[in-house]
Amino acid sequence: MNRFDILPGRMDLPGETICQYGSSEELAAECARFGNKGLLVHGRSLAKRGKISKITASAPPEVEVATWEHPGGEPTLRQLDKLLTMARETRPDWIAALGGGSVIDLAKAAAGLYHAKGNVTAYHDGAPITTAGLPFIAAPSTAGTGSEATKVSVLTNEETGIKKSFRSPHMMARLIILDPGLLKGSPEQVIAHAGMDALTQAIESYTSTGATWFTRQLALEGARLLFSNLVSVYETEGTDSSAAENVLVGSYLTGLAFSSSRLGVVHGLAHPLGARYKLPHGLVCAACLPYVLTFNRDAMIEDYETLSEAAGTDLLAAVAGLLADLDIDNPFKGKGFYDLDDMIEEVLASGSTKHNPRQVTESDARSLIRELFTY
Ligand SMILES: [Zn+2]
Repeated sequence: MNRFDILPGRMDLPGETICQYGSSEELAAECARFGNKGLLVHGRSLAKRGKISKITASAPPEVEVATWEHPGGEPTLRQLDKLLTMARETRPDWIAALGGGSVIDLAKAAAGLYHAKGNVTAYHDGAPITTAGLPFIAAPSTAGTGSEATKVSVLTNEETGIKKSFRSPHMMARLIILDPGLLKGSPEQVIAHAGMDALTQAIESYTSTGATWFTRQLALEGARLLFSNLVSVYETEGTDSSAAENVLVGSYLTGLAFSSSRLGVVHGLAHPLGARYKLPHGLVCAACLPYVLTFNRDAMIEDYETLSEAAGTDLLAAVAGLLADLDIDNPFKGKGFYDLDDMIEEVLASGSTKHNPRQVTESDARSLIRELFTY
């Protein structure tokens, strides 16, 4: 890659990012710069842990914050419709998300589409968003999907069963609040799955055919931070605040990178598999990653060595070690598969697959799925 082509083309970046322990508690005050009326979209577990009431109670007197709780599960177009209806009735000045990737993807799409006309399905199907939405603020509670730093929202259309991403510069966050304190008390499985999603994204962004010198620096530093801190966050359930900060930043850098570079065939496989088997996205990525790295190895050339250096050992061995330390087994092994032809069609149509460093043919996709379910 030519270093003089540091940043060919446009790269969309968030407005501002704060990283500080406890900073999410000041969310309402921080968002007041966008107006005094806000809508806070959040997940269930943070509400149970008292985080949401703490934020609304500590809002400055002039700031009014309405809340919307994500009902759970993978985010869908129907949920987006409900959130948009509620938002348009409430008429906020800004929309903030405090939660994991699902919560952030929903709130981001609602903010981006707030002034857009017509049905949300059209935008999910690729119609461009032509009008600016509301200011969007993201505070991730997992590390993560990197969704806080992307212009991408991944949603499922329940009518067709298709899970896919859509993107717009209008969906980029104006403010990101990284609070390592939010990781404290996260269920260990969530830490493991979200962390493997972030790491897969770092590797796929680094080797993507859409990568630039600029995105590669971000992705490589993200990979390094995730490789060296993920196990510690998992073992301490987020209480090691220095490791928590490192994985949160690693995940964020990865999001910045892949928002522009795109990903690879792990993500091409993860969406159709995740939608059919109703498994967490990070778990599906973790399961697919070793098979795809083996498939891609010859096409990665020196990138394999560079990523091995970031991992501290041979890349495939490092990934296998990490999966063992995070107690992640391949959930597809020994399962029967169904709907294979449709699934392969979705894998090949995916923008992620198209950016894989090795071209993926129909028979490659078939073999990858067979291997995943067999070995
Ligand atoms: Zn992902």
